[in-house]
Amino acid sequence: MKIAIVGYGTAGQASAILLAAQGHEVTVFEKSPSLGPVGAGFLLQPTGLAVLARMGLGDQALALGQRIDQLQGHTPRGRAVMDMRYADRRVGCFGLGMTRGALFELLRGAHADAAQVRTGVRIRAYDEHSHQLFDDAGGVHGPFDLVVAADGAHSTVRPQCTGNVRRESLYRWGAVWCLLRIDDWASPHTLLQRYAGTRAMIGMLPVGTRPGHEGRWVTFYWSLPGDRVDTFDDAGVASMKAAVHGIWPEISPHLAHLHRAEQLNRARYRDVVLKAPHHARLVVIGDAAHAMSPQLGQGVNMALLDAAALADSLAAHDSLDAALAAYRKQRHAHVRIYQRMSRWLTPLFQSGYTPLGWCRDAVFGPLGRAPGARGAMLSILTGETGHRPTIPLAEGAEPTVGITLEGQSTKGVSV
Ligand SMILES: Cc1cc2nc3c(=O)[nH]c(=O)nc-3n(C[C@H](O)[C@H](O)[C@H](O)COP(=O)(O)OP(=O)(O)OC[C@H]3O[C@@H](n4cnc5c(N)ncnc54)[C@H](O)[C@@H]3O)c2cc1C
Repeated sequence: MKIAIVGYGTAGQASAILLAAQGHEVTVFEKSPSLGPVGAGFLLQPTGLAVLARMGLGDQALALGQRIDQLQGHTPRGRAVMDMRYADRRVGCFGLGMTRGALFELLRGAHADAAQVRTGVRIRAYDEHSHQLFDDAGGVHGPFDLVVAADGAHSTVRPQCTGNVRRESLYRWGAVWCLLRIDDWASPHTLLQRYAGTRAMIGMLPVGTRPGHEGRWVTFYWSLPGDRVDTFDDAGVASMKAAVHGIWPEISPHLAHLHRAEQLNRARYRDVVLKAPHHARLVVIGDAAHAMSPQLGQGVNMALLDAAALADSLAAHDSLDAALAAYRKQRHAHVRIYQRMSRWLTPLFQSGYTPLGWCRDAVFGPLGRAPGARGAMLSILTGETGHRPTIPLAEGAEPTVGITLEGQSTKGVSV
C-alpha cells in the first residue's frame, strides 16, 4: 500500500520502520524543519520495551538507557506514599529511563528511509473522498491507501476522524522539565518523587545517556498549574528553585545552573478520547488518538504498542476495513483503562484540591503494602493492565517480526 505517516515522533518513527519492513511504500511528513527529539526523558515500561525488542532494538535501548527497578515517592517529611518494586511484579521485570534523544536516534537509525522524511511540511487536513493530504503551504499529497495520523496531542489531522472525537480537553495542570547531568546520582535505579500536597510535585528520573553529550543524565520535573506553565519565565525559574529548595534541599545544587526559562521544556497535558481511532482510510495513533496526563508514564509505551498493533493488523488481514477494525479491537481496552486512570489519578497529584493530597498520603502507602492492591498497582505501573499481548494471525498469514523475551520465544505478533 501507499501509506502516509503524519508526524515523526515515537509513534510515527515506529510505524515507519514496521510498515516499511512489510513492504509498504511509506511517506512521512514532519512539520519541524529538521528532525530531532522534543523534551527531556521518560520511563519506558516492559510493554514498550517488548516492542523495541521485537524490532531488534532491545539491547541497544538497554545500553543507552538506565534500568529502573523501583518507584519511590515521599512527602517532604519523609512519609512514604509510593514504594513499588518491579521485581515484585515478576523476576527480571524492570523499567527503562531514557532520554528522548536516545530513543529518537535509536529509531532513526533503524529507519532506512529516515533521510526521505518530508521535513518542514505541516499537514493541515485529510480529505476522506480523495484520500489526499493538504499542507499549510498549499501542497497536496497523495492519494494514499492509508493515512496514519501520528501528529501528537495537538493533532491537526484528528478532527478529520469525523464524528469520532468524544473528548478533547486541556488539563488544568502541566509541568516544566529538563535534563540534568549528574554522573554520580545516588539512586541510579530508582524514580524518586516528592509530593507537597497536590500543588507541588518534583520528580528525578535517571535516564542514562544523551546523544552528543558525555556523562549520565537525570530528568527533573516540576509540576505547575497550566496558566503558570504558559507564562513560565526567568522569574518563574527563580521561584521554582526556591520552592524546590524548601521541599527537597538535597537536589538544589543540581538546579543551580538554571536561570532562564528556555533551559526547561514546558508541557501542557491534553485528554483526548476517540470513539474509534479510524475513519475512511485514516487511522489515528499515539498521543493524537489518546493523549493523557503523563501521571502514569505510559505515552511512549502506548505509541510503540499502537505502531506494533497497527502493523500486525495490516499483516493479518487482506482488507483494510478488517485490519483497522482488528487494530481498534486490539488496542481499545488498554487505552480506555489508562485514559480513565490518568483522569482519576491526576488530581491526587496535581490539582488545587489539598484534601485529595491528604487522602493520597494516608491511603497509598498502606495500599501499596496490601497483597491484593499491590499486585494491581504494579500491573498499572508496568503498563500491563488491560493489555492484550497477542492478536491472532489470519489463517495462512506469516508473522512479520519475531522476538525472544526472557528466554521465551514468541511467535510473530506477540509483544
Ligand atoms: C512531562 C511529560 C512527561 C512524560 N513522561 C512519560 C513517561 O515517563 N513515559 C511515557 O511512556 N510517556 C511519557 N510522556 C508521554 C509521551 O511523551 C507521549 O505520550 C509520546 O511522546 C507521544 O508520542 P507521539 O509520537 O504520539 O507524539 P509526539 O511525540 O508528540 O510526536 C508528534 C510528531 O508530530 C509532529 N507534528 C505535529 N503536528 C504535525 C502536523 N500537522 N504535520 C506534520 N507533523 C506534525 C510533531 O512535530 C512531532 O514530531 C510524558 C509526556 C510529558 C509531557
